[in-house]
Amino acid sequence: MIAQKMKGYVANSSVIRAMFEEGKKMAEKYGRENVYDFSLGNPNIPAPAEVNKAIRDVLEEQDPVLVHGYMNNSGFENVRAAVAESLNKRFGTNFSRKNIVMTVGAAGGMNVIFKTLLNPGDEVIAFAPFFGEYRSYVSNYDGVLRVVPADTRTFQLNLEEFERVLSPKTKAVIVNNPNNPSGVVYPEETMKKLADVLVRAGKKFGTSIYLISDEPYRELVYGGASVPFMTRLYHNTVIGYSFSKSLSLPGERIGYLVLPDELEDAEDIQAAANVATRILGFVNAPSLMQLAVARCLDARVNLEFYDRNRKMLAEGLSRLGFEFVKPEGAFYLFIKSPVEDETAFVNKAKEYHILMVPGSSFACPGYVRAAYCVSPETIKNSLPQFARLAADYGLHA
Ligand code: PLP
Repeated sequence: MIAQKMKGYVANSSVIRAMFEEGKKMAEKYGRENVYDFSLGNPNIPAPAEVNKAIRDVLEEQDPVLVHGYMNNSGFENVRAAVAESLNKRFGTNFSRKNIVMTVGAAGGMNVIFKTLLNPGDEVIAFAPFFGEYRSYVSNYDGVLRVVPADTRTFQLNLEEFERVLSPKTKAVIVNNPNNPSGVVYPEETMKKLADVLVRAGKKFGTSIYLISDEPYRELVYGGASVPFMTRLYHNTVIGYSFSKSLSLPGERIGYLVLPDELEDAEDIQAAANVATRILGFVNAPSLMQLAVARCLDARVNLEFYDRNRKMLAEGLSRLGFEFVKPEGAFYLFIKSPVEDETAFVNKAKEYHILMVPGSSFACPGYVRAAYCVSPETIKNSLPQFARLAADYGLHA
């Protein structure tokens, strides 16, 4: 019999899998071009040419025993040094290789840091709406996830509610900037306020609260928006980064954690994260990918492509009377459901072959997520279908 705890995870996964299967079935039935699948956050533009070249160069130039071998569980020393150097150049920080742990994507990084930090019953706070997998990442280590309800006027951080959720048991707070699913970017001013609240709460409770800044979408920002670098604003920040989106490498599973020296118990955390990487069974982040990304830390996917999609979908839906906050980052639009039960809206949209994800998956019912990492044709051809959907609900621009 499977473990009790797994039963919940499996039940939850089957909802997502069912949606994926449904999309496939609809594509078979109606033809792929007649299905408008906005459900998946899977990058649809190729990795930059630099990445493929770097992989080939690593294979040609470097010792194959080293390329395919084990290394320090935290990653190759020179790769970690290159990541630290690149961050220092971009953000004026002072990291060295000991501050970097190469990880199996952001998901691997979060599991490593929660394994490192959490005792059973420790509380971790997340701001709705948030990436639903956080629930599992926290409960994997018997932590308790506490949710700050969304501020649906702006989808900015709801700091008033946050103060109410903080407690002496709060071990960590997760912030995801830019945000999946709202596409919102939290500006420096907001993040400074968040840091102030954390410092005050730490003093009040005699604890030190870790901020886990989950940043897989850091490079995906548009229209001049900028994502503050949190280690400069709050001493107790761990950054989780991933190349899944910035280099379109989600299947390769590569990212890193930044563990600054300013962290409370920094040395213990750096040592423990190394061990956590090993004992979780990752052992180390994929070796070839470590060596490849170290050669293209300044490369980016074609952001123009996502930006054009963002504008086309946002303008098209806004003209039809749909409401959402302006997305400035990632590749998602979080649309207000015209009816309270957003699952009914998602089901209605399916009748027009439009697939979206209910906001309940992100702890924010009443909204739906549309991922615009799709082809421009999908967006263009979906708009007449969205128009029919809008008409069903009597929406007007
Ligand atoms: N965090 C957020 C907010 C995400 O949206 C995702 C993936 O979509 C992840 C973490 C995990 O990404 P990775 O592929 O780097 O594990």
